Amino acid sequence: MAKQYIAAQSVETALKRRGENSAFLAGGTEINRLNSAVEADTLISIRRLDELKKVEAQGDFIYVGALCTFQQALEEDVIPEWFKEACRFMASRTKRNMATVGGNVAVKRTDSYLIPTLIAVGAGLKIETADGTKECSVLDYTEGLTCCDGLITCICLPKNPGFVKSVRFANTAQSHAYLTVAFAAKDLDHIEMAAAVKNGGIYHLTDLAAAMMKDHDVSEETLVNMVYECEGAVFPTDMFGGEKYKRYLLGVAAAGLLADAKKGGLA
Ligand SMILES: Cc1cc2nc3c(=O)[nH]c(=O)nc-3n(C[C@H](O)[C@H](O)[C@H](O)COP(=O)(O)OP(=O)(O)OC[C@H]3O[C@@H](n4cnc5c(N)ncnc54)[C@H](O)[C@@H]3O)c2cc1C
Repeated sequence: MAKQYIAAQSVETALKRRGENSAFLAGGTEINRLNSAVEADTLISIRRLDELKKVEAQGDFIYVGALCTFQQALEEDVIPEWFKEACRFMASRTKRNMATVGGNVAVKRTDSYLIPTLIAVGAGLKIETADGTKECSVLDYTEGLTCCDGLITCICLPKNPGFVKSVRFANTAQSHAYLTVAFAAKDLDHIEMAAAVKNGGIYHLTDLAAAMMKDHDVSEETLVNMVYECEGAVFPTDMFGGEKYKRYLLGVAAAGLLADAKKGGLA
């Protein structure tokens, strides 16, 4: 349990106070959750940093402030429907009113609401660190390649990612998702996919996307068999289903997303 609480008045103070065993407090829905994976002696509240709540379109991007809540994102006209679709995966409005998009990326949960969609569209992050402002892709951040102890200030969504769709598999709307799959493509020669497998990992599905780009009519059978044979991903057997069932589901979901993209006019 935290022993000290600091309310940061600026990004600079938040970064200065960030030491060992500390965490930023944004919406607090992960930090204060029973059995949360976040353990910290010091909580640095960033809630007063209003500049991190802004959402604006500029050039080729839509910049979503890290402190934008899921509910705020749903209410912003400038935010695209495909991002709202991922925000709606958080079914509880009470939680949507508190939880922030930056917090969701930072916790990197393997049942993440937003990360698969953000990886598929090639979204980026702006991060403040002790060494200045850094920019990186959500993929690199998720894989732990960059700036993981900095303060995410903004998620950068591409304005024109083409066809984007995400699907989530869970027992009920409020239950944890055991599989979330996202697909984005400007055309059938430029496909990106990502998946979150609860307690397995977050995966950039480059092989499945490559198979679809090589053969635009690749069969569901081929995709399911590719996932059955994939050794680089973990699909735990648990109360939500067995390993084979989850692999099958990913293959079928991928085939369904490709079919939806074609129905949506992608060639
Ligand atoms: C019942 C319940 C079910 C949940 N189910 C899911 C689920 O299925 N999928 C899922 O993804 N999440 C789930 N969550 C967790 C949580 O609601 C979301 O991940 C939420 O988006 C976290 O955002 P937050 O603002 O509340 O983060 P906080 O709880 O405030 O912070 C979480 C962590 O992120 C870091 N952090 C926060 N903001 C930043 C920032 N701007 N820059 C850098 N680091 C930052 C903090 O240091 C901390 O370590 C669940 C929570 C509850 C209570």
